[in-house]
Amino acid sequence: MVDLTTALIHHPYAPPEGFAAPQPGIFKASTVIFPNVAAMRNFEWKDKTAYTYGLHGTPSTYMLEERLCTLEGGLQCVLLPSGLAAIANVALALLRTGDEVLIPDNAYGPNKALAESELKTWGITHRFYDPMNPQDLAAKISHQTRLVWLEAAGSVTLEFPDLCELVRVCQARGVLTALDNTWGAGLAFAPFDLMPGVRPALGVGLSVHALTKYPSGGGDVLMGSVITRDPSLHMKIKLTHMRMGWGVGANDVESVLRSLPSMALRYRTHDETTRELARWSQTRIEFAQVLHPALPDSPGHAHWRALCPSDAGGAAGLFSVIFQSYHRQDQVDAFCNALKLFKLGYSWGGPMSLVVPYDLATMRSGWPAYLKQGTLLRFSVGLEAVTDLQADIEQSLKTAFN
Ligand SMILES: *Cc1c(COP(=O)(O)O)cnc(C)c1O
Repeated sequence: MVDLTTALIHHPYAPPEGFAAPQPGIFKASTVIFPNVAAMRNFEWKDKTAYTYGLHGTPSTYMLEERLCTLEGGLQCVLLPSGLAAIANVALALLRTGDEVLIPDNAYGPNKALAESELKTWGITHRFYDPMNPQDLAAKISHQTRLVWLEAAGSVTLEFPDLCELVRVCQARGVLTALDNTWGAGLAFAPFDLMPGVRPALGVGLSVHALTKYPSGGGDVLMGSVITRDPSLHMKIKLTHMRMGWGVGANDVESVLRSLPSMALRYRTHDETTRELARWSQTRIEFAQVLHPALPDSPGHAHWRALCPSDAGGAAGLFSVIFQSYHRQDQVDAFCNALKLFKLGYSWGGPMSLVVPYDLATMRSGWPAYLKQGTLLRFSVGLEAVTDLQADIEQSLKTAFN
């Protein structure tokens, strides 16, 4: 008989096999226990045939990785503690001193900041290209270019590039592409098969996804993924991931596994409500311009229409407005403050609607010709009733501009 303290640690009971429930069991571990020394020496975690340490994979992380591969049409996946960490993983794994990375001028801001700070100090150069002009990208590709980032729609301004043409330009020059696929989320279009039916498939090299947004769906989880269809590319990402020690917590994995089954339904509802609000916003004289890819006069609308033909579930839950240039900044601030349902906060993809004022002049190399001058706000539309959201914007416009 062992001591009680020992018995509570080394307990002999094992529950019966065969338990099944709608949600998978969650496995938590730093330590993974090996059956013998030979297993400890020989277990190979890299191809998911075994387990060695919590950081390198558990049944729960493997399961989430496989489901995300299904979502995005990929074959391999790595999980990271945030979407931004996923972006950093790609950069650290693939770029070396002397290399250059090309980033769209409308990219997610912190991706640009990483290039302008850490990458720069390591001797990795970057250039920003005009995502709406494939010739500009083609002209900026040099023999140093190792990676081209893509984003569709663009962050904050939501212009939709000719993604197929941008990928073709890179493929013709043998340059690897990485798409920040957070907006499309695997639902609006297939990143690894941009022209379904056309063979060989036209697709990106890597897809990065901020799972923080739609896959989490709650505004309460930070996580990211890097998905590939090429084992050797995946291994580069995976080895850097391992050496940097970028693990994810099992509770967060559980949250995303729980939210994934409802993701397509949520995305569709975000989409429908957002289109309705964007269309209505176009009727308001306070706004000089409304940006949403499904609006016929929004920049890149035809590219969006070609890539995302689905009439529902193809345009996410974001739209931006540019106020008339004669509206003062303090009036626009008052509008933001007067909103009741739209809360002031970053991120998107959760149930609660959010709004963020952006200073576009500090974010872009130049003010794009297709954007009107004025203060820009981005709305992230949650899952509230569209009538309530519209009434909220209406009452707030009245408060701020009367
Ligand atoms: C939010 C976001 C990220 C970063 O995700 P975090 O989990 O917040 O780090 C990256 N790209 C895009 C387009 C995003 O919207």
